Amino acid sequence: MNGLDSWLFPGGQFLGIRWSVWKLIGYAGNVIFFSRFLVQWYATEKLKRVVVPPAFWWLSLAGSLLLLIYALRQRDSVFILAYLFTWIPYTRNLIIHYRHLEAHLTCNGCGELCPPQSRYCFHCGAPLHKDQPPAHQPNRAA
Ligand SMILES: [Zn+2]
Repeated sequence: MNGLDSWLFPGGQFLGIRWSVWKLIGYAGNVIFFSRFLVQWYATEKLKRVVVPPAFWWLSLAGSLLLLIYALRQRDSVFILAYLFTWIPYTRNLIIHYRHLEAHLTCNGCGELCPPQSRYCFHCGAPLHKDQPPAHQPNRAA
C-alpha cells in the first residue's frame, strides 16, 4: 500500500504523526470501538435505565475487527490475542437480540409489537393469541 500511502499522506506525515493506510485502519478501529460507549451511554440516558442497544454490539464487532486487522499487520501477539476472540460474544449477543425480536408478537388491535409470551397488548390491552403472527420488523425495537 505504499502507493496509496504516498498519495494520501504526501511526505508521510500529517499533524506531526507518521501516517500509513494501516495506521488509518487502526485509528478507525479505535474510534469505532470507543464510539460504542457513547451510543450505550446515550441509550441509557434516554431511557433512564441501563440499556445495551444492538448498535453497541455492531460497533464492538466492527471496531474490534479493524483493530485485529491492524494488530495482525503489526504482528503484535499481545494485541492480536486481545481482539482474536471478542467477536464471539458480540456475534452471539446480536443473534440472541434478533431472535428475541423475531419472537415478538404483533397486536391485531393496534399493530404494535409486544414481547414474546405476552398475554395482552401493552399498548391497547387487546388479548394476544398463541397463534398470533410473529413480528418480522427487526428495526422496530432497540
Ligand atoms: Zn394493541
